[in-house]
Formats: sequence, structure tokens, C-alpha cells
Amino acid sequence: YGPEDGLLVLDSLRKEFGGLTAVDDLSFAVEEGEILGFIGPNGAGKSTTFNCVTGIYPPTAGTVWYDGEDVTGESAHEMVKRGLARTFQEFRPLPDRTVRRNVELALAPDRVFSLSGLRGQTREEATALCERVGLGDRLEQTPDELPHAGLLRLELARALATDPDLLLVDEPFAGLSSGEVSEISDLLEELRQNGLTLVVVDHNMRGLLSLIDRAIVIQFGSKIAEGPPEEIREDERVQEAYLGG
Ligand code: ADP
Ligand code: MG
Repeated sequence: YGPEDGLLVLDSLRKEFGGLTAVDDLSFAVEEGEILGFIGPNGAGKSTTFNCVTGIYPPTAGTVWYDGEDVTGESAHEMVKRGLARTFQEFRPLPDRTVRRNVELALAPDRVFSLSGLRGQTREEATALCERVGLGDRLEQTPDELPHAGLLRLELARALATDPDLLLVDEPFAGLSSGEVSEISDLLEELRQNGLTLVVVDHNMRGLLSLIDRAIVIQFGSKIAEGPPEEIREDERVQEAYLGG
């Protein structure tokens, strides 16, 4: 793999925690405009891979390219500035602030809030983002008033506030009903239609099949399969990984 292979490219990425190898020479590319599924059993190394790409942890070895440039080991702040955003598996919105305020704070961490003109603009942008993710009627509620899918929508709005080109979504479907899974899938598809590239993580294929163009499956930190979802589902190594064989 090389810098021209995709919008985001990982080559021989490795992450060790003491004696544990969480990501083991993992290579793959994310193509511009696609929705890539990043699948693997619990503990396979999915979040760690994200953490190494988004500047949370420095990788032990390997290279990450973003938009043609070597970004290996860059800070989280730098990666956000480049246009890479992520959601976290466990959302932590500020509990005593409204939905809109939570999005305002993600939009404008550095803006000077005492300038009333900017405050108005920030408020409008936050409102538009909330509407975009389906929270237009919950602007004045606090996070504890939202259903779980609503918290995920808020997490998505906060990620979109950084105006990304690529969004990494970590386990969005955990804890959602099948109705909510299809609503969130529709939202993610809509974001893609509007020009976003997405990587969606899940511990299995449930709910992902109709959404993704392509899947990468990992186990013990290594890639075991890659291809269109209907092929992946039939793959022997994938079936073994999920049967514990
Ligand atoms: P997944 O997201 O696929 O469920 P993770 O990437 O969270 O898996 O974890 C992969 C492995 O790395 C697991 O064995 C986990 O316990 C370990 N791990 C993750 N983060 C850390 C950390 N900060 N320190 C030590 N071990 C970690
Ligand atoms: Mg995880």
C-alpha cells in the first residue's frame, strides 16, 4: 500500500500494549466516497486501529497516509484539522448542557464567545447541524432526555461540527433496536450522498449489510477478509472467527 491508494491508507500498522499486540501489521485503504465496514469480534483491535489513526495513540510501527500525506503519529488536533473526524464508542456529551449547546461547543472550541456576532453564527450552525442529524426538535433538551439513538445522533453532530471529509463511526449500532439501526443507516447513507466518506465499525455484520459497499474483517489485530458484504458473509475464515473455531 502507498499514499495514492485511498483517502486514508494504513500500511503495516502495528500497536502493542506491553506484551499484547492489539493491531498486527494491518494494511488497508479507504476509498473516497465509500462506506467501508470495519468488522471484527470484540477485542479484535478495531477501536485501537481508530485510536492510532486519529492521534489518540501513537502506533508502534507502520505508516498512515491521509489525503496523500504521511500523517503517522500526528496529534488528534492535527488530524481533525486535516478533515478526519470520529465518534467514540462511549459518548460523553456534557450532561448539564442542551443538545444545541453541546454542538456549539464542538463547533467553536477556539472561538471567542464574547463576540455576539460570532455567537449568533455559531448558534445557527449548531441548529443546522442538529437538524441535519434529526435532532431539530430536541435543541433545548439535555442529553439525558434523549433515547440512545438520539445520543448517537448528537455524537454524529459533534463530529460533523469539525467539517470532516472522512468520518470514522465506532460501533454505532450497539444497543439500538433494529428500527433504530435502519434509521441511523439511512442517516449515514444521506451523509455519504452529501460527499462524506465513512468507515463504520461493528462487531458483526448485523445491520451493516445493506449499508456498506465493502468490508474489512479483522481478528486478533490482523485482516482476515476483504470484499463486498455478500462475499464476506460466505467467507470461511470469517465464519470460523465468529464460531470461535
Ligand atoms: P475492539 O474495538 O475490536 O473490540 P480494542 O481495540 O478495544 O478491540 O482492543 C484490542 C485489544 O487491545 C484488547 O485485547 C484490549 O484489551 C487491548 N487494549 C485496548 N486498549 C488498550 C490500552 N489502552 N491498554 C492496554 N490494552 C488495551
Ligand atoms: Mg471497540
